[in-house]
Amino acid sequence: MDKLKRAQTEALFRDVNERIAESAERFDADVAEFVCECADPNCTHRIRTSLEHYDEVRGEATHFLLIPGHEDPEIERVVERHGRHAVVEKFERIVARTVRRLDPRTV
Ligand SMILES: [Zn+2]
Repeated sequence: MDKLKRAQTEALFRDVNERIAESAERFDADVAEFVCECADPNCTHRIRTSLEHYDEVRGEATHFLLIPGHEDPEIERVVERHGRHAVVEKFERIVARTVRRLDPRTV
């Protein structure tokens, strides 16, 4: 799979999570079940975490939430480990540029 495609898949999962966060906020929830933001379009893993932590991750356009082991070492590195999930940073140039361009919080 090419890098652009992987970046677009991850950005799509991020959009899904933005909607999950919005609806959780509407219901005054502190935690929510997010989807894994890895590059596998068929991944159905869920990540349960606080909205506060989710917002922290979203503060960086190149940071994504995923299940440990789902990271793709060609395009991203783990920057935080939290037991059942990890936070990765996209370092690959094309991928980082694409996820920045598609960042729903900066448009
Ligand atoms: Zn995954």
